[in-house]
Amino acid sequence: MSQNLERWLFGVFSKAVSHKSLGRATILTFHRVSDNNSLFGQEEVGILEFRDKMRLLKKHFNVVSIDELLNARVNDELKPYTIALTVDDGYEDCYSVITPILDELKLPGAFFITTEGIEQGGLWNDKIANALLLTEQQSIHIDGEEIFIGDDASKLIAFEKILVKCKYKKLHERSQFIALLNEQCKTEFTDYDFLTEDKIRAIANAGMIIGAHTHSHPILAVEDEQVCITEIKKSKEILENITDSSIKHFAYPNGMVGRDFNGKHESMLKKLGFESGFSTTWGHFSPDSNRFAIPRFTPWDKNVYRFAFRLVRHSCKKYG
Ligand SMILES: [Zn+2]
Repeated sequence: MSQNLERWLFGVFSKAVSHKSLGRATILTFHRVSDNNSLFGQEEVGILEFRDKMRLLKKHFNVVSIDELLNARVNDELKPYTIALTVDDGYEDCYSVITPILDELKLPGAFFITTEGIEQGGLWNDKIANALLLTEQQSIHIDGEEIFIGDDASKLIAFEKILVKCKYKKLHERSQFIALLNEQCKTEFTDYDFLTEDKIRAIANAGMIIGAHTHSHPILAVEDEQVCITEIKKSKEILENITDSSIKHFAYPNGMVGRDFNGKHESMLKKLGFESGFSTTWGHFSPDSNRFAIPRFTPWDKNVYRFAFRLVRHSCKKYG
């Protein structure tokens, strides 16, 4: 970022509106940080981009851990431009890229891990991506429709289409769908790119918080109650065994309040001994927020200046 722009943004603009961001925090959600540039990973944050963004947060924002946020009892405890960092899903780059950068800058972070990925090397969407990337077939049939997958552009369109179709299926339907897809594509899942038990322990030992994100990443709102309880409980138990400590925080898969989870799931978390549940609905955290539907925010800008500007604006924005 140019020096003048940075001086204006943090010396003039952010100061003028800082009172509006007092007593509240912005919790950022990240997923993957990588330079792989794979066909289906174009939304990923690059490594240098992530480092630049973290440097800027360190310099101009008040970055705290989610434990610190949850311990704040009165608004005054949250200074202007308070930020917390969270990373969902549990890909390998949490260990090899994100943790070293946070560690170097002494920034706290929380990692919400989908435990099936530890056992299988990836999640349901990775299995779909893998089938489409590896296949030599020119087309597949999905729900009676022939979908062309003979080149990269068509594969990308097919991938987006299949993700939308699969996301809101129940877990057993999703598994059946993926098995059929692999059969048609004549492929097997081999793209292992997930955290291992040792890597999770290393992240925890670096002082980061480990949280749960279910076992198989279902949309809780479409599953039966017992499936939800099993999914949430299993991920908590697996992570407690790995880290040898209590897992207190949870992030809802997909995470939109009302659409992907509801009050029923918030009660499940309470009963299972969690202290918080993080959504993906945009908003701020304040000491009086519902601790089982905590809003987060994801600025999408690749440019670090735009990212910072959006973050300052978000910190001051009113949410109904
Ligand atoms: Zn997720």
